[in-house]
Amino acid sequence: MENSHVETQIVATGRPEHREGAPVNGPVHFTSTYYGRLDERDPAAGADMYARSSNPTWNGPEQLLAQLESVTDTSQRPALLFSSGMAAITAAIHLVPVGGRVLFPRHSYNGTGSQLDQLNDAGRLNAERFDVTDLDQLRNALASSATGTDLVWLESPTNPMLEIADVAEVVRIAHEYGALVAVDNTFATPLVQRPLELGADVVVHSVTKYLSGHSDVVLGAVVTDDQNLYETLLNHRTLFGGIAGPMEAYLALRGMRTLAVRVHRSMATAAELARRLEGLGQPENAENPDSATRDLVVRYPGLPSHEGHQLAAATMSGGFGSVLTIDTGSVEAADAVTETVQLWTPATSLGGVESLIERRRRIPSEPATVPEGLLRLSVGIEHIEDLWDDLCAGLRAAGLISSQNR
Ligand SMILES: *Cc1c(COP(=O)(O)O)cnc(C)c1O
Repeated sequence: MENSHVETQIVATGRPEHREGAPVNGPVHFTSTYYGRLDERDPAAGADMYARSSNPTWNGPEQLLAQLESVTDTSQRPALLFSSGMAAITAAIHLVPVGGRVLFPRHSYNGTGSQLDQLNDAGRLNAERFDVTDLDQLRNALASSATGTDLVWLESPTNPMLEIADVAEVVRIAHEYGALVAVDNTFATPLVQRPLELGADVVVHSVTKYLSGHSDVVLGAVVTDDQNLYETLLNHRTLFGGIAGPMEAYLALRGMRTLAVRVHRSMATAAELARRLEGLGQPENAENPDSATRDLVVRYPGLPSHEGHQLAAATMSGGFGSVLTIDTGSVEAADAVTETVQLWTPATSLGGVESLIERRRRIPSEPATVPEGLLRLSVGIEHIEDLWDDLCAGLRAAGLISSQNR
């Protein structure tokens, strides 16, 4: 099992033992407490005592996620499920001591950025943004602090600008200055990027997104290969109480069973849509002779035109994710697209089987460096031609492509 392929692990890990009459799926344990009268420290009392500390329903998804993120001993350090991605992120940020320092991406997930800004303003810690593509800026930020940096927070690709970081190099530099590195791996998924293998100390996930995959669960996870960090994060979960409900844990594992087929399909579709969209923006393109009437800027790390493409090809394996962006140039044009599309769902979030489209700046906390007319597309698993036709109808209604186009 240890050496099997990831697609097989996704299906096989975290199931009940194979024995006559056993269910093939683990049960959902709806309980707040467990029978027990022995002393808590007595090993004979067993692990489960109260359901804020442990629930056997968590075991399957936690073991599988740790395995996907390349934890060396998943029995010692399974992943830790949390009630949401933000609860998992909160636990990781809590590793920073009072008065400590954090560097985080200028285009980090806006919940993470807002939490760090608020903790900074409240005096709990010092948080500063950095450009994940600029290693000199990172090095200077680390070197300029007399008291040191405790944590470098990393996302790659970033949301929604899809900047690509040299994860291994960021880790190397951060470690040189004694900082821990936590990577939010939600956008890439462990199918294409495994930060622990690149030296990161902690990985967090919004399990809400690709891992669960059906837009019906809010859940998070932290993964680490360090036993001390694991114990600290486990203690945080138990005492701060951001635990996963048993039903959500079950749904997450059910969703993860199809992670490989969903993500590989949506990545392939995203890559092809990005290629076609870029073609629309080039009037000389032979396939689309009368093409664009306005500039359409398409960003996708899989496009050779993306400035982080080479790095993404080296850091990610087997794909470039399923999120792409179109800068339409104006709020009006972007809104015309989201008002016209029928199949694409105008909604925030990402990573589900259904394709979503959103003008990101409608969210007030989105940084001003994100263009106002930027649309973020989370590509699902529908047929590509239906997605393409619907998107072209939206772009046509917005005057972004000529009426002859599709
Ligand atoms: C959605 C998201 C989060 C937050 O997760 P929730 O499950 O919504 O709490 C964190 N990071 C990234 C990259 C996300 O996309």
